[in-house]
Amino acid sequence: MSHAALNALEATGKTCPTNAPAATLRQIYRTHTDPNRVQAARQGLWVAVFVYMLFAISDYILIPDVANTTILARCVVGLTTLVVLEVSCWAKAGARVIEGISAAALVAGYLFWLLPAMQTEATESIRLYMIFGTIFMMGANLFFIFPFVLSVITSMIVLTILLVSMGVMYPGEPAYLITFGLFYMSCFIFTSYVNWKLNGERYNVFLNALEAAHQHREAEKRGVALERLSNTDYLTGVENRRAVDKRLRDFWNDWQANGSSFAAILVDVDFFKKYNDFYGHQAGDRCLILVASVLNDTLKPLNASVGRYGGEEFIVLSRVTGRDQVMALCEIIRSAVEGLHLVHDQRRDGQAVVTVSVGASYTRPQTGPKLERIINEADRALYSAKANGRNCIRLFNPNDPLTSDDNENIAATLRMAIKNDLVHLVYQPIKNLRTGRVEAVESLMRMKMIDGTPLSPAQFIPVAERTGAILDLGLWAIRQACTEVLATGVAPMASVNVSAIQLKSRGFALAVSTILEETQVSGSQLAFEITEGIDMEGQSDVIRCITDLQALGIRIWLDDFGTGFAGLSWLRLFPFDTVKIDRSFLQDARRPAGRAMLEDIIRLIRNRGLKILIEGLETADHVDLMHELGIELGQGYYLGRPAPIEDVRIKAVPRLASVAGR
Ligand code: C2E
Ligand code: CA
Ligand code: CA
Repeated sequence: MSHAALNALEATGKTCPTNAPAATLRQIYRTHTDPNRVQAARQGLWVAVFVYMLFAISDYILIPDVANTTILARCVVGLTTLVVLEVSCWAKAGARVIEGISAAALVAGYLFWLLPAMQTEATESIRLYMIFGTIFMMGANLFFIFPFVLSVITSMIVLTILLVSMGVMYPGEPAYLITFGLFYMSCFIFTSYVNWKLNGERYNVFLNALEAAHQHREAEKRGVALERLSNTDYLTGVENRRAVDKRLRDFWNDWQANGSSFAAILVDVDFFKKYNDFYGHQAGDRCLILVASVLNDTLKPLNASVGRYGGEEFIVLSRVTGRDQVMALCEIIRSAVEGLHLVHDQRRDGQAVVTVSVGASYTRPQTGPKLERIINEADRALYSAKANGRNCIRLFNPNDPLTSDDNENIAATLRMAIKNDLVHLVYQPIKNLRTGRVEAVESLMRMKMIDGTPLSPAQFIPVAERTGAILDLGLWAIRQACTEVLATGVAPMASVNVSAIQLKSRGFALAVSTILEETQVSGSQLAFEITEGIDMEGQSDVIRCITDLQALGIRIWLDDFGTGFAGLSWLRLFPFDTVKIDRSFLQDARRPAGRAMLEDIIRLIRNRGLKILIEGLETADHVDLMHELGIELGQGYYLGRPAPIEDVRIKAVPRLASVAGR
């Protein structure tokens, strides 16, 4: 109720009860207590009428000679009152009317009883019985919650009736008149006084409630303002990091629960440091404010939110339906900032205005279980956008170049990769193109980060080589290929990629022989693929290592032939078993010159008496070409993609059966 009263007060233009005029407050008090007063008066009157009728019993005992008339009077007054009351309530009469009816009923109840009662012969009884007039006075002042004026008028009428009737009945008895007259008057004064006090009290309670409601509303308003402040970036007025993090969590939970996709887009102002240094910090701040507000204005209608993520970096979060929508959003962002035409002639990259680089990522089914990952992906996309000359947009791609942070993460992950099951091998078939048989499988390493992000070997192998983690991982891969593929007979042969670092490390050949022994695998089933990218000349320890491995029966294959510079001298140095021709030659073979080159290389290797394996067969045309060129061994997506051991095992079932049947 007090909130409704506060609304009424605010409607008058006053916001707070303390500065509102008393008349206004009174008015509001009256209107807002009206329904309660109707209710109270109605209840009170029903109770009063009931008690009034009960007094028929005492009439019968005290003034039996006129009891019939007084009881009839009681009934008439009581029932009339109730009928009038209910009709008025039904007609939605206000408190003033109901209270008026109650007051009138009080007076009538007393008067219409008193008049016939005064006719009684029982003079002693009526003398005392008349005192009950005070009850009517108290009823007006204390029982009903009448406004003060109505109370006083009602009780004064009752008092007057009392005094007049006394004077009429006992004119010759001054003692009686004085004592009872005084008693009645005191009664009137005291109860009127209490009524006055009560009314004041009630009004104060109302004012306090109004004040409390006002305070409450103010506190709520302050809370909302505070909340807004704590979620807003002080400089640009867009959401701050705190708000962004919360929104991101909400989006993420929604994605987990209902699968509603969203995109995280990182927006970084290009060459901002240069801008700041040259134009000064104030201009720098102004630049950020302008960028923030153009982003806000452009993206608000698209239901995307903008936040400041750090220094000159903003983040845009939006619900999206797919890749195209993300790209469109990114382009809107990029062109909106470019469209500001904010001069920045310090950048020396051919542009003279402020631009942004944009990196985005969005939820896809394989995004995995961690929230940070989507930001991490957007960050990598942003890094890639920067690396691509800035003022451009990039969507996350797992093969994006890595940031130094990423590399550190990878280095840390590599240290615990084996123990935490973060690495596994996949196997790609190497087929005989004439018979279609799987001659061998190549083992390729796969790794994921703790949060499930997959990494490509192009990302983690160089880090592993730099940190030396490749030594343990390399031996692990050899052991894994031996146990998974060779010891179980899933494929007749397996090749494992081996880095130069491994060949240079002490005791590598010994460690390999231990693995062969432990897994009961013959060295002749194993091939090591070595890339020609490293300069081996003069590396006597590497040469010794390779000789040791060959002594174990292990074949040494030359990988990626033709991509490095040392290929030919390599061929001169080692008795390789097989040479894998890099897939770039196959791609080039579409052109006559490329095809001639491929034929030359094939001839060269054949002349040295080595086996040839061509990588990267992706189409039926590629395979036809192999037949034309007389190539027997091939590997590529067309023949089979790298697959986990479970899949390889299933494909190998017929082979395993025929081996067992022999
Ligand atoms: P690689 O030894 O030349 O391996 C062949 C790569 O080409 C694999 O990529 C394979 O998935 C991909 N590939 C196979 N067939 C096709 C095809 O038809 N078309 C195309 N476009 N690609 C095809 P992946 O697995 O990403 O490996 C990349 C490189 O990472 C490997 O090149 C290898 O140098 C290195 N690597 C992978 N596993 C290991 C390992 O256990 N140890 C070491 N030291 N290096 C590894
Ligand atoms: Ca290889
Ligand atoms: Ca290769």
